[in-house]
Amino acid sequence: MQSIDSNNDIDVENQWLVIQDRLKNTLGEAVYKSWISLLRISSLEGNRLEISTPSRFTCDWIKTHYKNHIQDVAAQINSNIKWVDIIVKKLEESDTSLQQNTNISFTEKKISPSDGAHLTLPSGGEVAFPSHLDPSYTFENFIVGKSNELAYAAAMRVTESEKPAFNPLFLYGGVGLGKTHLMHAIAWRIQKQHPKRRVIYLSAEKFMYQFICALRQKDMMSFKDQFRTVDVLMIDDVQFIGGKDSTQEEFFHTFNALVDQNKQMILSADKSPSNLDGLEERLRSRLGWGLVADIHPTTYELRLGILQSKVEQLNIHVPEKVLEFLAHKITSNIRELEGALKRIAAHSSLVGREINLELTQVVLRDLLRANDRRTSIEEIKKKICQRYSLKMSELEGSRRQRAIARPRQISMYLCKKLTSKSLPEIGRSFGGRDHTTIIHAVRTVERLMQEDDSMAEDIEILIKTLGN
Ligand code: ADP
Ligand code: MG
Repeated sequence: MQSIDSNNDIDVENQWLVIQDRLKNTLGEAVYKSWISLLRISSLEGNRLEISTPSRFTCDWIKTHYKNHIQDVAAQINSNIKWVDIIVKKLEESDTSLQQNTNISFTEKKISPSDGAHLTLPSGGEVAFPSHLDPSYTFENFIVGKSNELAYAAAMRVTESEKPAFNPLFLYGGVGLGKTHLMHAIAWRIQKQHPKRRVIYLSAEKFMYQFICALRQKDMMSFKDQFRTVDVLMIDDVQFIGGKDSTQEEFFHTFNALVDQNKQMILSADKSPSNLDGLEERLRSRLGWGLVADIHPTTYELRLGILQSKVEQLNIHVPEKVLEFLAHKITSNIRELEGALKRIAAHSSLVGREINLELTQVVLRDLLRANDRRTSIEEIKKKICQRYSLKMSELEGSRRQRAIARPRQISMYLCKKLTSKSLPEIGRSFGGRDHTTIIHAVRTVERLMQEDDSMAEDIEILIKTLGN
């Protein structure tokens, strides 16, 4: 790598981008979203990297929990960095010119109190859990394809009328497929079209956190109060409250109170209500009362569409061939796809070389290898359709004729065997089937392979042609 000139804003920003990326991988998505994404680079002078956070609370939290780790990662990326400082700096004060320069992932904006999408802690009045809405997570920036059209339509719908069309709206799907993006988009849209409506967006983790703080401070009244006047309450990643009994209880009451008052609830999770672990039965059933909309794994077309739109947003030049290559190779999820694009962009600007296929392959070596190992569900389904002359809709549909049902079972079996996807995830990609259906398919195919040599051989060939 070239030596880095610390006076150059873009380079500093790029290094920070790479550091953040690595922190996301090492600390996990939830921690990243809740804490690391709030950090901004403030300066890099000599061997000292200064990072700012918007509030005292986050600053203290990060110092005690993540500072050492951040320091280690920063030193790995740039060995000149010996010391990391975390300071409090309100976003308005920070140097926004840096952010405008690259326009890469530094666009998060703090919502001001008058926006309504905002929570304050009861006692001190310090903003402890502001809703952070990413300005780039809008409907305009959301690319719609077959896999997410239902969720998109449902999300649009809740912004249109003041009375809940369905309550709750429950969005579910695997990581990095756009649940949070859609929720932020709903918040932005409502804020714009109905500024008087009070919208609160928060992660289940933060809901839990606030609840615990309120318990400690013996101030449950204020905790409850803040939800009383809300019109739309969105809670992201509710799988996190599984197993946490008292939080679940409180969540259930908040939920019921709001639904009874005809307030819109919007929730997201990585699984459908019926597959969520550690939830009380009454809450589980209540969550499924409204509209449950799932987001399926992406298709090639959607991935390409998203890449094209991101390139435009980031205002970078990437040859079409490279985009096609990425859309073909990185099938896991959209976050990883986007991350790949940002990594190439950052790298190319760091070393001052234009983006081409060769550079892409070098920079993304690790990521590509990881994706290579995973034959995608989509690929398996395509192969089966070709092999048995079926339409994708037949394979994903529910007709039980043997000529369709058998290949369907074979593809479920292959998905289980060749991918790292969970049973619910596989079920989802076959028209939202239950995980027990997948288990049944796997057992049936295993039995058939034992009983029938030609069937076993057929499947062996399929596995080989899928590159395994
Ligand atoms: P989830 O909450 O489901 O884990 P996110 O909403 O955080 O996923 O999405 C991950 C990334 O992918 C975000 O940067 C988001 O903007 C992007 N993304 C997801 N779906 C789409 C889409 N349909 N169009 C454009 N960008 C998308
Ligand atoms: Mg999310």
